[in-house]
Parts: sequence; C-alpha cells; structure tokens
Amino acid sequence: MIKAIINATLIMRDHFIPDAALIIEDGKIKKFGEARKMTLPDDCEIIDADGLYVGPGFVDIHTHSDGYVFFQDEPERAAQHHLKHGTTTLLPALYYSMDTAGYLKAIADLKEAMKKPECANIAGFYMEGPYLNPKFGCDRESNPWKGGVDKSKHMPIIEAAGDLVRVWAVAPERENVLEFVLDAKKANPSVFFSVAHSEAEPAEIEALMPYGLRIGTHHLNATGTLQKYPECRTPCVDETVYFNHEIYAELICDSRGIHVDPYLLRLTRKIKGDDRIILISDAYACDGPIPDGYEDVDDINFDHMGEIAGSKMTLDISCRNMIKHTGASLVDVFKFASYNPAKATGFCDRGEIAHGKRADLVFVDHKMSVSRVIMGGNIVK
Ligand SMILES: [Zn+2]
Repeated sequence: MIKAIINATLIMRDHFIPDAALIIEDGKIKKFGEARKMTLPDDCEIIDADGLYVGPGFVDIHTHSDGYVFFQDEPERAAQHHLKHGTTTLLPALYYSMDTAGYLKAIADLKEAMKKPECANIAGFYMEGPYLNPKFGCDRESNPWKGGVDKSKHMPIIEAAGDLVRVWAVAPERENVLEFVLDAKKANPSVFFSVAHSEAEPAEIEALMPYGLRIGTHHLNATGTLQKYPECRTPCVDETVYFNHEIYAELICDSRGIHVDPYLLRLTRKIKGDDRIILISDAYACDGPIPDGYEDVDDINFDHMGEIAGSKMTLDISCRNMIKHTGASLVDVFKFASYNPAKATGFCDRGEIAHGKRADLVFVDHKMSVSRVIMGGNIVK
C-alpha cells in the first residue's frame, strides 16, 4: 500500500524542507516536498509525523554488538536494538581477537541470521582485522594474528566472507600486508580498506590508497604517534587521514568525549570537512571492571586491563553527542550518520531522502530522540 508521511520537516543533505509530505511506494521514496504543493494519492496510508524531523535511516558501518552481546552470538538481539534506535543499515564488525576458526564460525552464523526478517538491517561485514598492529586495541594480549601474513590462515576467511565484506581494516605497516590486500581485492573487487590499529607512516598508508583504502578506522583512537627524534613529532596515521581528502574519518562520539576529545572532534570537522566524517557506534561487549574516575560513565566499555573497549551506543546517541561537542546541526549529523557512511561503503540506494532511494526513514525531535523508524517502506518502530 502507498504510504504518505505528512506534517514532517524533512532532513535533506544540506537543508530542511519544513511542512513537508513524503510518499512511499514499493518500499521506495516516490515523491516529497512542501505539502502545499503536493497532492496525496487516494486511499494511501497516512503517517502523521506531528511536526517531527524525518531523516534518512542511520548507516552504522562499524558495530560489534548491542553494547552487551556480540552480533555473531545473538544477531537478532543486536540487530533489533540498533534498528529501534534508527539504524536501518549496519555492518557487524568482526574483530581480530578471533582466529581463523572463530572468524569462519562468526561469518557462517551471521550469514544464516541475515536470512531472518529480524536481521534485515544487517547488510554485510566490516572486517576489523585480521592484520592489525598487535600494539593497539583492547584485549590485545589475545591477538592470534601476531606472526607474518599467512595465506593459509586468511584465505578461508576471505572466501567465506566473499562479497558480503564492505571494508577490510588493515595496519599498513604489517609485513607483506599488500599480499593480503591483493587476495581480498581479487575475491571482491569492490571492497574498500581502512587503516586501523596502526602506527604506519604516511607513505605506507598512501601506498594502499590505489587499492581502495579510503577510511580511517576510529580516527584518533588506537592509532600510534611516531617519534624519530626526541621531542619531535613525526606524522603517523591521524595526520595521514587529515592530509588525504579522499580518506573518511570514522569517529566514536561518546558523551564525555573519552574516545575522542571534544576539541579533537571540532578539529576533525575543521580539517576533514563535513563530507568526510562518519559516525560509528563501535558498540562492543566487554565486561572489564570500571576503572577509578569513570564510575559515572555508562556509554562505553572497559577491557580487563582497564582500557576503553568501544561503546554501548547507537547512532542516535552518537549524533546527540556530536551536536553537543561540536555544535553540528541536525542536517550535519544525519550526513555523518547516514549519507557519508552509505557513500563511503558503496550503498548507492540509501543514505538520503531522494527520489527512488530505499524508504529508510527515522523520526526524531530536536534532541535526537527516535520515535519512529521505517525500513524499506515498512514501519518497524
Ligand atoms: Zn577497533
């Protein structure tokens, strides 16, 4: 049935359309604009937005869990949690703490889950590993990928994940990492790469850009700072992400600015510009004890060494924090949480309110409270 949303303020890529209506047909956005200039079809289902803002559904390209349980363990629970918070497309991130067998099981279980309607927002994988720098990341003592690049260990993962992978995260300084990049690219030519958990020099990172490296994984977080001479800073991962306009910067934006300091969030907006920022939840599951001084922090996790280990957030909350820390507008944060991540990972059919795009829509108030979610034209909240 044709649906018509009325009394909405539409959040477009660079402006608002107040007093708007939007028509959904066959799960897609058919028509939208100022209501006074539109005629609604006869016999359509009316959805009254009651003056709320309506923007494109969130696209979370990097999330491991609902904050408590990993996607590969309870996919329905994690997928539904994010969906109720407006995330209509997500990529479960599979972390490098798993060995080959662990990756294969996670991939198989998630592929099975993706057949279920409860997991309809799972749209592929973000492979956070296996070849990252063992010096960085939570629970890093359990990293099973410390040796050299090993074809016999990574090929089964590449083959199992196939074209469901949208992003492979690598540390470019790992010896012979290009061998892995070429193997991954051969199996799935449209895949992208990110620099992650790394202390690579600019030249090492830039050498992978022709192969599709275009994302800085959780920018300013779990990255190194090189020092060749005492008291002299040497450019490393964060500087390279800043320098190269083509590279998108993922940001974890928690309420106290712990993963990324609010000043650095503002700096990133200034340097990268609003077209190159991607908000990720990086929701993780880790039950380490809460260290002293963090007792009131409820939106991030800690590992067993007392270090931060991802968040408990969803993207609506990340947007709210980004507004608070940087003064971004609703238009800006929807760009960071929907349009930019969709574009960066090749989801051409979603990420904005535009004619013919998938009708993935989220209703929010000015404080980013989600009251309704529509995915593929169906009301799911
Ligand atoms: Zn990570």
